[in-house]
Parts: sequence; structure tokens; C-alpha cells
Amino acid sequence: MSTVFDNSYARLPKRFYSRLNPMPVKAPAPLVMNEELAHELGFDPTELTPDVLTGNNLLPGTEPLSQAYAGHQFGGWVPQLGDGRASLLGEVTGDFGRRDIQLKGSGITPYSRNGDGRAWLGPVMREYLVSEAMHAMGIPTTRALGAALTGEIVQRERAYPGAVLMRVAASHIRVGTFQFFAARQDKEALELLLEHAISRHYPGTEGPVAFLSAVMERQAELVAAWMSVGFIHGVMNTDNMAVSGETIDYGPCAFMDAYHPRTVFSSIDQMGRYAYAAQPDMALWNLAQLGTALLPLMTDQDAAIEEMNEVLTSFPELFQTAWIRRFRAKIGLIREEEGDMDLITGLLSRMATSQSDFTWTFSGLLSGAAKAEFNEDEAWDSWATDWRARLAREDNPKAVMAAANPVVIPRNHQIEAAIQAGVDGDLGPFQRLASAFIRPYAPKEADMDLTLPPKPEERVMRTFC
Ligand code: AMP
Ligand code: MG
Ligand code: MG
Repeated sequence: MSTVFDNSYARLPKRFYSRLNPMPVKAPAPLVMNEELAHELGFDPTELTPDVLTGNNLLPGTEPLSQAYAGHQFGGWVPQLGDGRASLLGEVTGDFGRRDIQLKGSGITPYSRNGDGRAWLGPVMREYLVSEAMHAMGIPTTRALGAALTGEIVQRERAYPGAVLMRVAASHIRVGTFQFFAARQDKEALELLLEHAISRHYPGTEGPVAFLSAVMERQAELVAAWMSVGFIHGVMNTDNMAVSGETIDYGPCAFMDAYHPRTVFSSIDQMGRYAYAAQPDMALWNLAQLGTALLPLMTDQDAAIEEMNEVLTSFPELFQTAWIRRFRAKIGLIREEEGDMDLITGLLSRMATSQSDFTWTFSGLLSGAAKAEFNEDEAWDSWATDWRARLAREDNPKAVMAAANPVVIPRNHQIEAAIQAGVDGDLGPFQRLASAFIRPYAPKEADMDLTLPPKPEERVMRTFC
């Protein structure tokens, strides 16, 4: 069977993108192939050779292009961004709907600015591992179909092996894609983009206000899902927020080990703009930019601003509802009771004081290992007494906790060690993590060591894009 591409984005007007082929690389070599996903999407994994994964060979029906977009980076407006190192090969369709097939690290484009258009092995490995782990946890995300080595050197702080990732997404339309056309007062393009985005992600939705509302609902759910597993995106710029509601752009992302709401990993996030607990506010900030970008599509501007504001006003409640549902489940609760919020925040504040490991503590509520994560027995005992009393009013709290608390998550120190080994030519540790991270709730016995928090000397406190 050969995959059929149907490239709806390429049928949009030329100012949406630049058509160009990926830049060939020197010596494509195998790195990883996600066979299960390949089958799901109707690919024969054997056709996804290193030559295809790096863009040296193009599958029939692809029409490579790099998308134009703009965005706010750390709050500062950048009128022209775009795929500086990515190539949208085309879209595949099937029972699963429609998915973009994109190469990341595929060479210089008209949007590269000073960049080299390339990616090195480290970020490619991280995106592969973390996006597939997120999917396994049931969190909406772009996927990783495979990756290959390029046989070329990529110069960063030092020389690293180059790689290309084949990424799968519901679409790559970003808040920043709308901003790109709004900033150019290109109402016609905005209209076409809205129609395109609605037909792909929100069929039946009508008009810019309903669209904003629909995107907002998914983002509220998404950020609550991130927070429920201790995920910090790290670079929630408006060009890194997909209107589909998928997690996109695994740059300096990280899972927290020790819990603290102000945790930041990204080396470039010096002000903590995208800290763990700031994520809902930042999502709302981005959604306000989306609302603003959609205003040119509405006639009466005063009324339009009011309508958009009204939509945005409901974000905190939407988020709160999603958040508490997830955190209730994490401590075994399905019924809704008055005191639940206090119970959850009571645990989190004790965790912050004790620097408890986020994942180990929550999964340890079931295994009994949680208590040891608290500095003082009293901190745990006082909470656990209330918790047990509350659990008595639940039917099956153990099953609820088991389904809500991953045991294995992609921990920074493990990813860094796998990258280091990969750079030194050993792909074994990466392959081990790739197979362990897709079983987050029920790890194999042989992978139980991966559930452990880092020892103090193993901790990785900074991530780089
Ligand atoms: P990011 O911070 O990953 O969202 O990237 C911001 C912008 O920089 C996007 O337009 C990227 O396409 C571009 N970019 C990132 N890395 C490179 C690179 N190595 N070469 C060219 N463009 C890049
Ligand atoms: Mg990006
Ligand atoms: Mg990035």
C-alpha cells in the first residue's frame, strides 16, 4: 500500500508559505522509526527510509513547503517568523482524519533568518521521547513518526551530529499564523485561514468568536493536562501554540522532579514567564492575541472587542474545572465535594515545602511510597488523615489513582544521559527510553529503575532549545 497525500494547505494562496524542497543531507542513516504510528497512518514502515526521513527522497504526492507565521516571543512582537528549519511535506488522510507530515531540521528556508535550518541529535531525541510519552499519557500532542541522522555536523556550543525528525500533527496552524495575516491587515487571508482551521479542527463552528471559544476550551484542557503530569512547556510563545489544541514545539520543555509552582528549566526564560504555575495565565495571554488577530474579520469593532473579551473571561473557570477534575483523580476522587480544593492544595503546599518529587509522590499515594517524600512525618500524617477520611466516600479510588498518575515520565536526567550516549555513538539508552516511556502507567519490571527521581548529583536544572 502506498500512502496518498492530499495537500490542502498547499492549495491556500501563495502568501501562506514558500514552496521549496528540503535541503539534501550528506549521509542519511537510521535513528528511530515509530512503526506503530506508521501503520496507523497507512505508511509501510519500509518506505520511511533514512533517505525519506531526511528529505533526500520525497514520497510521491508530497509538495514540500515552509509555512509563514509571526508571533509574540516572550511577550515581544516578531512580525515575521515561519518555518526556519521545517518542511511540510504534505497531509495524509484516513480513518484518523488528516495529519500533517513535516520534517524538522530539513534545511534553510526563506524564514531561517540567521539560523542554519538544522537540528542536532539532542533536541530530536528529546522531541521524539517526550512527544511520544505525552501521547501515551493521553495528552494531545504532535507525534514523532521517525528520525534519521544526517551524517552532517551541526555547530552549537560545540559540534554535534545532525538529525531530522519526521513530525505528525493535526495541523501546524498556530496562533501566530493568524497574527501574521492580522498584522498585514490581510483580511482575505485571515478569512481563508479561519475557514481552513475550522474545517480541520472545529467543523460546524461558525465565525471568529465561536472559533476563539473552541480553541480556548481545548487549551484550558491541554494546560490542565500538562500540569497534572508536572509538564513545563518552557516556550509558550504564540507561535508555539497550535489552534488544534495539540502540544507543539518540544524545545526546552521538561517534567518537574521536585515540586515547586515557580519551577523553570529553560535557560532562556530568565524571568520565569513560562514557569510551571504561570502556564494557564500565559495560555490566556496567547488566546487574547488570537482574539485580537481575529478582530479584522468582524464589522463593529467595539462590539467585537466586547464579544471576544466575554469569551476570554470564561477561561479561568474552564481551566479551574479541568484542573480540579484531574487533581481530584490524582488523589483518588471522582465525587465532587466542597473541601476537595483545600485537600489538593494542602497536599501541593506540603510538597512544595518538602521539595517532594511530583511524580513519585502522586504515584506513591497508591504504592505507599508518598510518605517518605515529606520532610516531616507530621506534614504527611496531618494531610493523610483528612485524605483517608475523604477516600472512604469513594467507590474505587485505587483504580482512579492508577489511571491518573503516571509512574514513568521522561525525566530530564534520563533524557540527558541518553543524548550524551547518542552523541558518543550509542543509541541503546535512547531506544530503551523510547520503549519505556510509552508505558507510563504500567512499566515493565525491568524498567522500574526509571521511575526513581534523580539523585541530587543527577539533577538537571537547565534545558536548552
Ligand atoms: P522556536 O523557539 O523553536 O519556536 O523557534 C522560533 C523560530 O526560530 C521559528 O521561526 C523557527 O523556525 C526558527 N528556528 C529555530 N531554530 C532554527 C534553526 N536552527 N535554523 C533556522 N531557524 C530556526
Ligand atoms: Mg517553534
Ligand atoms: Mg522549537
